[in-house]
Amino acid sequence: MNVPLLDLHPQTAALRDEILRAVTEVIDSTTYILGPKVTGLEEEIAAYSGAGFGIGVSSGTDALLMALMALEIGPGDRVLTTPYSFFATVGAILRVGALPVFADIEAETFNIDPGKMAEILADDAKNGRTIKAIIPVHLFGQCADMGKIMALAQEYAIPVIEDAAQAIGSEYPMQEKDGSTVWRKAGSMGLVGCYSFFPSKNLGCLGDGGMVVTSDSNFADTLRCYRNHGAKPKYYHSKIGGNFRLDPLQAAVLSVKLPHLEQWHKQRQENSRIYRELFAQAGLTDNPVILPKAVHAASPDAAKHNHHIYNQFVIRAPRREELRKHLQEHGVGCEVYYPVCLHKQDCMKRFGSNALSLPVAEQLAQDSLALPIFPELGREQLTRVVEVIAELYRS
Ligand SMILES: *Cc1c(COP(=O)(O)O)cnc(C)c1O
Repeated sequence: MNVPLLDLHPQTAALRDEILRAVTEVIDSTTYILGPKVTGLEEEIAAYSGAGFGIGVSSGTDALLMALMALEIGPGDRVLTTPYSFFATVGAILRVGALPVFADIEAETFNIDPGKMAEILADDAKNGRTIKAIIPVHLFGQCADMGKIMALAQEYAIPVIEDAAQAIGSEYPMQEKDGSTVWRKAGSMGLVGCYSFFPSKNLGCLGDGGMVVTSDSNFADTLRCYRNHGAKPKYYHSKIGGNFRLDPLQAAVLSVKLPHLEQWHKQRQENSRIYRELFAQAGLTDNPVILPKAVHAASPDAAKHNHHIYNQFVIRAPRREELRKHLQEHGVGCEVYYPVCLHKQDCMKRFGSNALSLPVAEQLAQDSLALPIFPELGREQLTRVVEVIAELYRS
């Protein structure tokens, strides 16, 4: 039995007719740039995420880039982020001419470590430098520790851009001032949140797409202006924006898919539960395999919430390269997210980042491996994945 890392056929097949109808509507409308399909999706995503406003953009990458541009972050500015993410996170910072400053991550969550962030911010303040923005990434579908991150951001008055590309719908238990807990969705806690609709994300379109969300109405206007060459009104440019528009064809597809998103999250969460059961039965947990930790699973009322949406199910395993090869040889899809930390990328050499030592991120880059977790997988397939893994460590 082969188990692919991701198979989009079942999802697409189930919604095919509805998608075709929605796409046909766009074709017949002749509105091919922005228009009601895009505005409609913006309202739906804003409501879903609990942010006030959504601005549809061309990709998750452009969402990040545009957020930085709209904050007028540029050459010489420092932006605090994680060394462990998809390249787009740091690429956006570099493309506006700013310098990424990396705080190491937590081994348990793969997310930026607020303790390390605090050290960097204190050190910067002492040396008369300032961080102009913070970009936490909610990696693999679980929110970074936003309570602590937002507290730091408020202390130093720094705007937060959430890279929620992998985490739309993931929730974080935010402590309110009165001591109560409010579960907040990824993207709605910072000044601005960035989503990607790349096909492999939990909510994916049929190509590229993305969205920024914010609850600040003035900033929403600014973002909308940057999306369209900084024009306001048309042909009058007070800002230098770009063409960052979301296609109405993709918006139409996404509006068909969005009502199913919660169900897909649940199926991924159920797959994670089954994996945990199977790994435990096989005697593989803790040693040698470390399963992903859903940090808020034990919080009160956590069962009602998406504390982890499992965009990826990433284990840590010794002899990772051997395991990867073994799985592939036995028809089980897997992938390394990510083999090279951002500060160790070749293009970072000229900034001196390669000399940095961020031991946690570097260790996880050596031993992490993503396993199939997509919603339509059944117990039989998950059983096969664990069986093949067990085979390697038994021999
Ligand atoms: C996918 C992804 C992006 C980029 O999104 P695109 O839509 O592919 O441009 C950015 N950050 C993270 C963490 C991602 O996973």
